[in-house]
Amino acid sequence: MNPDKPTMTTATVDKTVRKEGMYEVVMEQFAHAADIMDLDPGVRKILAKTNSEIVVHFPVKLDNGKIEVFTGYRVQHNNALGPYKGGLRYHQTVDIDSARALAIWMTWKTALAGLPYGGAKGGIQIDPKLYSQNELERITRRFTYALGDNIGPDLDIPAPDINTNAQIMAWIADTYSSTKSPATRFSNLHVVTGKPLGAGGLEGRDRATGFGVVVTLKAWAKRRNKSVKGMKYIVQGFGNVGYWTAHFLLKEGATLIAVQDATATLFDPKGIDPEALLAHSDANGRTIKGFTGAKEMEPKEFFALDCDIVVPAALGNQITGENAGSIKAMVVAEGANGPTNTEGERLLREKNIDIIPDILCNSGGVIGSYYEWLQNKRSEIWKIAEVLEMLEEKLEDAFTKVADTAAEFKVDWRTSAYIVALRRLEKAYKERGIFP
Ligand code: GLU
Repeated sequence: MNPDKPTMTTATVDKTVRKEGMYEVVMEQFAHAADIMDLDPGVRKILAKTNSEIVVHFPVKLDNGKIEVFTGYRVQHNNALGPYKGGLRYHQTVDIDSARALAIWMTWKTALAGLPYGGAKGGIQIDPKLYSQNELERITRRFTYALGDNIGPDLDIPAPDINTNAQIMAWIADTYSSTKSPATRFSNLHVVTGKPLGAGGLEGRDRATGFGVVVTLKAWAKRRNKSVKGMKYIVQGFGNVGYWTAHFLLKEGATLIAVQDATATLFDPKGIDPEALLAHSDANGRTIKGFTGAKEMEPKEFFALDCDIVVPAALGNQITGENAGSIKAMVVAEGANGPTNTEGERLLREKNIDIIPDILCNSGGVIGSYYEWLQNKRSEIWKIAEVLEMLEEKLEDAFTKVADTAAEFKVDWRTSAYIVALRRLEKAYKERGIFP
């Protein structure tokens, strides 16, 4: 056992961690769009509730021999369009409200992208940095076992989210299929997406979300008769989404001038190299602190930096009444889920700052997941070039639909993205009817 590593019990989960408060935000966004499009009242009632909410408490033996009991969540919001789909996050802020909000956003996201999926989300309320790899493996496997048949390749398909990765998805797939008959082992591969390549993963799924953020930014620039080339941008969060967004924006000739994570805020007006920063972060337990290629600055000043593009790619409720008024950029590209709250949004709108809404901007991830799921179902292996090409086409289509619907209803892009998604759900309910 590592004597420096704090041992944690559920009782000592950091209660100072601020709740993200995303549930209120998603319900306000939903009510606003439903009013404007005059959503069928019955469908509105259905979509205002989640279909099922699973909370599991499960024990795991830690490396020091002690037993810890963890709490995991899976909220399944709606499956009118197909199996439930959405990530699992390992974070201190995971609770029933955040899982509900994130599950609801997944329903809108998959409907908007035209995928045959519903929406779900879940995770475990932990700080994974406090656990060894072996402990994380046992926690993940025991969580999967506790979820049992509440997930499944045609029922509910988890994927990576904050602090979960391809390795964790491989453990879930292996645990799930190990509890089933050996005869079905390989027909269960697609119980999760975002797996490593050797375990049935898809080439390109790792970068799909960040790639998608950049595709939507290019589509935004085209609409505004601009080019992202030469633009300056800032990124909050340097996990999977933050890094890959920076990687692809560098290729487009944009300059990363600041990055913020939970440990530090880095600034260099001449540009920060995302590849060097990734190497630093990988070598330092996934933190940007201590990187010598940029200066550290006051975290409070981050959003007020002089730049063209802001990419929130971390937690929810980051752009709020407290900082939105100071943002100078032309556009906020929501790589994270729910990064802008209602007051933050009002202030951005007052300043005519465009928002590429999360359910469009970060939907490259779940679209990539859909291709992985299809690849597994068909027992095929696809190449990265074709994956990225299909992804780009799908996202450009979604962007066009959102922009055209915004013009039709004379509304902002978030509201129009909701309208496109809700129309599809409304149509499904109207055509199918309600059992019995
Ligand atoms: N966690 C990602 C999201 O929020 C991906 C979900 C998925 O691929 O199912 O969209």
